[in-house]
Amino acid sequence: MELHTMTAGELASMLEKGEISSVDAVKSCLDHIAARDQAVGAFLTVLAEQALQAAEQSDTRRREGRALSLWDGVPIAIKDNLALQGVRNTCGSKMLEHYIAPYDAHVVTKLKQAGMPILGKTNMDEFAMGSSTEFSALQVTRNPWDVERVPGGSSGGSAACVAAGEAPWALGSDTGGSVREPASFCGLVGIKPTYGRVSRYGLVAFASSLDQVGTFSRTVSDGAALLSAIAGSDAKDSTSIPDAGPDYASAVRRGVQGLRVGVLDGWEQDTVLPSVAASMQEATAALKRAGAEVTTVSLNLLDKAIETYYLIAMAEASSNLARYDGVRYGLRVDGTDAADMFRRTRSEGFGQEVKRRILLGTYVLSAGYYDAYYKKAQQVRTLIRSQFAQMFNDVDVLLTPTTAATAFRFGEKQDPLQMYQTDYYTVPANLAGLPAMSLPFGRCEAGLPIGLQLTAGALQEPVMLQAAGVLEQVEQDRRGSYGAV
Ligand code: GLN
Repeated sequence: MELHTMTAGELASMLEKGEISSVDAVKSCLDHIAARDQAVGAFLTVLAEQALQAAEQSDTRRREGRALSLWDGVPIAIKDNLALQGVRNTCGSKMLEHYIAPYDAHVVTKLKQAGMPILGKTNMDEFAMGSSTEFSALQVTRNPWDVERVPGGSSGGSAACVAAGEAPWALGSDTGGSVREPASFCGLVGIKPTYGRVSRYGLVAFASSLDQVGTFSRTVSDGAALLSAIAGSDAKDSTSIPDAGPDYASAVRRGVQGLRVGVLDGWEQDTVLPSVAASMQEATAALKRAGAEVTTVSLNLLDKAIETYYLIAMAEASSNLARYDGVRYGLRVDGTDAADMFRRTRSEGFGQEVKRRILLGTYVLSAGYYDAYYKKAQQVRTLIRSQFAQMFNDVDVLLTPTTAATAFRFGEKQDPLQMYQTDYYTVPANLAGLPAMSLPFGRCEAGLPIGLQLTAGALQEPVMLQAAGVLEQVEQDRRGSYGAV
């Protein structure tokens, strides 16, 4: 049986009925990783023995009627910036190539409490800075739909492994689009929750006011279920929202009767691929047919979001990455004195993009430039936030493309600004702390998946999932299959 092509929901129901064991499911994924990952390059670390052991324990629990959750025994992969005790946590960087995490991230504890065997840790842009995974210092990851193309980033490994059928679902992180953009490039559902909905404890910090853990899955229901599994309060993250969160899965089949869906005024003039524009039209029509009210909204500060995001993200990164000094974590390159050791360690440990961001971030925080750049960016961020809040008085959910184009080729975006432009539609939700998700809807001329994005008001994930459920149904009906190559 081709267990590796199944959704997490299908695996869970077969486990529940005793039709398969968790060991079967894990073995099937591991076999597929062995067969395919040479070409895809999604995993930096495969935890075969550990995952099989966890699967055996899960099978024993099921036999004894002590399943920990619906998902007990369903395997998962996680991005290599989420701490898993005793395992390498590289962040795709030479700086942490041999660093072993001494504790579990909160989300990892949640996965373990639900009984999910962890298959391994996935490749990413160094310190989650990038949109293609090309900035990983350790490995190339290819898009399973077309190995000449990038899987997106920064959570490219998590997206690629799910799209390649190496894992039914995975966790990533999203600071400015790093779950939604790779989900869109790889034909998957990618959810970035409301800021604070999921604990960041044990997620290596990039830009702390923007970072959130998110999910990759082949179906909306799987994404909703995985979000329920990881959401909730955590005393170790002071920005965590102090309640457990609703049952997200129940929203998915609720329909959109009376739901108010916003589309951006003049989006047709944006420079999106014609096939992406066609997908937008079809999605709007489908939502209307299902009973939603579609209206036009305007968010004129959207054009300022990229600048605002990169100023704030770089400033926070320069501060967060100061800790990699050869003393406390990871790489140390000895020098003639302490200052020389710091310099050598940071020169050799960080790649070019990370250095660029540390330099620019330090610059915008320095006396004399702080007011002109960092403070100004914070002010614009506040305005973007309030424009969204205003807009969500009139609509329940906003529909946009996730990216203006589909997956690009390796080396195509050499100019950093071009790479940053990829995040045009995704960074606003992070700036405003709002939930947003990407789901596959249509294909471009080259046959690659197109992703559409739904954004909702703070903590309104259920509304976003309602609309996603309807669109998924339309896509499934016309394509017969969903979410895997
Ligand atoms: N592509 C964006 C960046 O490079 C977002 C990255 C992310 O979400 N981690 O910063």
